[in-house]
Amino acid sequence: MQIHNLFDKQKTIVSFEVFPPKATVPLESIFKTTEGLQALNPDFVSITYGAAGSSSGRTLETADKVKNAYGIEALAHLTCITSSREDIDSILDQLQNHHIENILALRGDMPINKTAQENLTTNYRYAMDVITHIKSRNYFSIAAAAYPEGHMECNSLAEDTAHLQQKIVAGADFLITQVFFDNSIFYKFLDRIQKAGISAPICAGIMPLLTIKQIARIRSLCGASIPKPLQLIIDKYEHKPLDLEKAGIEYACEQITNLVANQVDGIHLYTMNKLEHSKFIIQQTGLR
Ligand code: FAD
Repeated sequence: MQIHNLFDKQKTIVSFEVFPPKATVPLESIFKTTEGLQALNPDFVSITYGAAGSSSGRTLETADKVKNAYGIEALAHLTCITSSREDIDSILDQLQNHHIENILALRGDMPINKTAQENLTTNYRYAMDVITHIKSRNYFSIAAAAYPEGHMECNSLAEDTAHLQQKIVAGADFLITQVFFDNSIFYKFLDRIQKAGISAPICAGIMPLLTIKQIARIRSLCGASIPKPLQLIIDKYEHKPLDLEKAGIEYACEQITNLVANQVDGIHLYTMNKLEHSKFIIQQTGLR
């Protein structure tokens, strides 16, 4: 089923992000997580794509299992910045052959290395370019990434909104946001994009903060701001890892409860493959 058809104002869509194991680890290591997530009856599960396509095979295999063994709609992530048209066509063929009808179409992060950046010969400069290509197949439901605080490379929120609009015009059917920790930022983002005429359904990306290391990593990767109440939690439990984990999970639950009360279209939980935490959050917030 095409995921965009699942959105219905009467209920909140519940989805999970998982990442496939590295090539050196048996694929089976992810199955305990996906089986456990199946019991929570999610509307869909998304499967990440390694930077520069490094795990494309694993994304396909995991999505295949999610869709065809567990019967959950699978959303395969796909990045394009280092791919040729032939690469993308080959992946689309494989997804189609496995009846995976949903793709989160992304540009991907720019290679860090300057020479690699200069030598990029890609056909796809931005996500909207690969969205146009995927759309032309007339087979997939397409999701695109949205950034409540603006993408890190973008100079202004107005430009960021215009670029999001281009992805919708190119064919994106629904949106999933970057993680955010301050719901007021998300509500301002909703306001901004509604004023720009964007009405596609949006899944709010929520990630529980569990460790100090993770907090630093998330901040450097996507620049998400930490609101005062969360900073107080971090300061209080900096040297008490178990208390920090518990408080981080509670904070995510509060964010979700508030979003659901404000009739968000969907909650997309970045599970980090942590089954027990995900179960707790979904049950605690009454989503399942
Ligand atoms: P784009 O929409 O192309 O935007 C990239 C930058 O270009 C932005 O600054 C934008 O404002 C700018 N831009 C867009 N169009 C134009 C234009 N016409 N002119 C000038 N500037 C423009 N990465 C992975 O490697 N694997 C994953 O599985 C993965 N999953 C993700 C899931 C979600 C929900 C999110 C939010 C991100 C994910 N990412 C993943 C990270 C993503 O690849 C990066 O954030 C990447 O830097 C941008 O991808 P994009 O598709 O948003 O790019």
